[in-house]
Amino acid sequence: MLTGFGANAVDDAERVDLLRRLEEPKGAAAAAQARISVDFDASQRRAQEAAGTPARQLGKGIAAQVGLARRDSPVKGARHLGLAKALVLERPHTMAALSQGRISEWRAVLVTRETACLSRQDRARVDAELAGRPGGLEALGEAGTEAEARRIAYRLDPYAFTERARRATSERCVTLRPAPETMTYLTALLPVTQGVAAYAALTQADDTSRASGEERSRGQVMADTLVERLTGQTHAADVPLEVNLVISDQALLGDPEQTGGQEPVEVLGYGPVPAPLARHWITETGLVPDSKAWLRRLFTSPDRTRLVDMDTRRREFPATLRRFINVRDRRCRTPWCEAPIRHRDHPLRAADKGPSNTLNSPGLCEACNYTKEATGWHARGGHDGAVVTTTPTGHAYTSHPPPPIATRPAVTQPPRHHPPKPTCTTCSEPPEPPARPLPLAPRPHQPRRARLNGAA
Ligand SMILES: [Zn+2]
Repeated sequence: MLTGFGANAVDDAERVDLLRRLEEPKGAAAAAQARISVDFDASQRRAQEAAGTPARQLGKGIAAQVGLARRDSPVKGARHLGLAKALVLERPHTMAALSQGRISEWRAVLVTRETACLSRQDRARVDAELAGRPGGLEALGEAGTEAEARRIAYRLDPYAFTERARRATSERCVTLRPAPETMTYLTALLPVTQGVAAYAALTQADDTSRASGEERSRGQVMADTLVERLTGQTHAADVPLEVNLVISDQALLGDPEQTGGQEPVEVLGYGPVPAPLARHWITETGLVPDSKAWLRRLFTSPDRTRLVDMDTRRREFPATLRRFINVRDRRCRTPWCEAPIRHRDHPLRAADKGPSNTLNSPGLCEACNYTKEATGWHARGGHDGAVVTTTPTGHAYTSHPPPPIATRPAVTQPPRHHPPKPTCTTCSEPPEPPARPLPLAPRPHQPRRARLNGAA
């Protein structure tokens, strides 16, 4: 219906009216999802109780179902469910504003987040005060909503926020995520005093080196100093490096002028990188004195759609199989989850004669692995490593391993001068020698530091 507005069907004044009016069903839909989520939670808990689920496991798997239904991760599913309960059960005025489309879902999140550590009674008071202010909640922007909710909450219970600040230090952590142009963000969430001290130490290192004629920029010196002090290396570029490159023979050996030579290469734990950069790592690693680099190449099947299978009869996951699953799946295999892999799972349990091989071993995050043990959840492995997960309501979600590299079908590749790589080489055994020599011969008078295929 909404796609039916033709370019000439309305004038600009009507377009502005439409933009305004279309906010209302969005808010109303978010409110409806909140009500449905709360009802679903209550119903599922009753069903779990009736099925004899132990009290401490009641509620398990419900947020994950909300996430799957909304095509979000289990973590976001838990946030959706938490927000739904906070709005429906504790903040009737904010819920009413959302239902009528007077505020967005995000502003409802802000009200909830800023009042989360109050008692139930005080949450209701903030909710009522916000609604009763001139113009109501809809008169406030995002920053205003946040500040006003916080101001009322601080007045009602200043001690709750002091306690919250104390608890927050337990959430300190370090995270790594990709940045554009093959860089990464290494982020630390720290208590303010420690964060300021760490930053001051880095700026001081820059001041010291600048006094002795430093040519690098301030940012470069601080970044290098951070790496050097964390790793204990003398130079930041010397850090030991183990890179799992999922690479096709065309990307490695192909003519850079040809499309086949430009296929992206997959780096485990990061994502795709341009083929010329991967070739540079392979040919140049080892130039820095004392550096140690392990580049493990993993080849794709001849049609380049998957990493090739590898079998084992052992119940426990040997290191090579674990490594293979990490490389093949890269992220938790629950649809839309995308959390780092922590567990290698057997959809078909060992007790049910489930084998320990790559077809029966999706990589899962810790939370998803525990969720599928909840009442009413089932999983079974399909062909080609696909896993079908069925939730207590009977909804089935199929997850396929991601393609190893973003390639075109093999038939569209330009002619090659050597046969495709037929086997996977995830283990410590070297792969079959390539059809023509790799450009990796040791340099004269210089020890080879890039160990290929043989790293443990
Ligand atoms: Zn997961």
